[in-house]
Amino acid sequence: MERKRRDIRALSLDELRRFFISHSLPAFKGNQVFEWLWSKGSHDFLEMTNLSKSHRSLLEEHFVINHIAVDQLQRSDDGTIKNAIRLHDGYLVESVLIPTDTRSTACVSSQVGCSLDCHFCATAKLKRMRNLNPDEIYDQVVEIDKQSQLYYNRPLTNIVFMGMGEPLMNYKNTLTAIDRITSADGLGMSPKRITVSTSGITKIIREISDQNPKFKLAVSLHSAIEETRNRLMPFTKTFPLDQLLEALKYWYKKTKSQVTFEVVVWKDINDKQADIDALVSYCKQVPSKVNLIEYNAIGDDQFVQARPEAIAAYTTALENNRISVTVRRSRGKDIDAACGQLANKNNEFTHDHDV
Ligand code: SAH
Repeated sequence: MERKRRDIRALSLDELRRFFISHSLPAFKGNQVFEWLWSKGSHDFLEMTNLSKSHRSLLEEHFVINHIAVDQLQRSDDGTIKNAIRLHDGYLVESVLIPTDTRSTACVSSQVGCSLDCHFCATAKLKRMRNLNPDEIYDQVVEIDKQSQLYYNRPLTNIVFMGMGEPLMNYKNTLTAIDRITSADGLGMSPKRITVSTSGITKIIREISDQNPKFKLAVSLHSAIEETRNRLMPFTKTFPLDQLLEALKYWYKKTKSQVTFEVVVWKDINDKQADIDALVSYCKQVPSKVNLIEYNAIGDDQFVQARPEAIAAYTTALENNRISVTVRRSRGKDIDAACGQLANKNNEFTHDHDV
């Protein structure tokens, strides 16, 4: 009877070395395989030419190499590229390449669908089907890097975990993927160029603060008024703003890395002076800066982008209080590749209900 073969990329370097030892073979073979799998991105044991034929067969007998495949690629008028990525078990996630004059940013997914319920986000309307494995997160980065080289003649400069899913609800796999992305025997990217965006899972923010995190942290705040935030993101009732603040202070204490607050300003929801005042006083309590993100419509009439005057009022108030603020324009809107629009629109596979 054929045994179920494991995905070899679920093994750590140590486990790979031990696999060879358990077959009375030298441990360094494990290092060679690890390099093929991660630095060289090999998807086939046959390619591992510094291993003998019998060693390759041994691997083949015990393991498979699961990998992702680009199912569909769409290019926006502004150069943004959206990929529908097919996972080995058929699920789809989306990954985006966002080029600017000086940067190439990969926006990657961490889960199939999402378990949170942010009313303004299209991904939230999809059921969370499963977490992505470290290799599935890593492979998205490798794929987007290839596309950056192919279409824009330069390697990736930045990675943001702002695709589908909540990275901190899959933090172990996210951290393992980031380890590989930053390590010399992986992609060797600088942690300064990696941003994990969370809706604010306080317990996990504390936990990762203790684990020498190799990334910057962004928090989808949207409102510093409890009631408003709860209305926009009902699950945040479990993570009140004061607890979030304490967790972020702890993050800063451990990492000395400033937090970025992401805020979308909507008409009649959070565009009043009281909203601005609350944000300013929240930001003052922890080293932080603010990104004001443009709203990307997802077909729900209750959400309308605030008028430019409201954005200007936010900017002025923050700057007057020496809080650095950037207004972020959307990219890739025409192909639904912008923040909050990732919902496998062209495919019904993960749809819970229509978006
Ligand atoms: N779950 C994580 C990462 C995915 S969302 C998080 O919540 O941070 C990435 C960013 O897009 C978040 O800041 C989120 O609040 C924002 N976003 C979601 N829907 C949006 C929309 N329709 N328009 C603009 N930004 C949106």
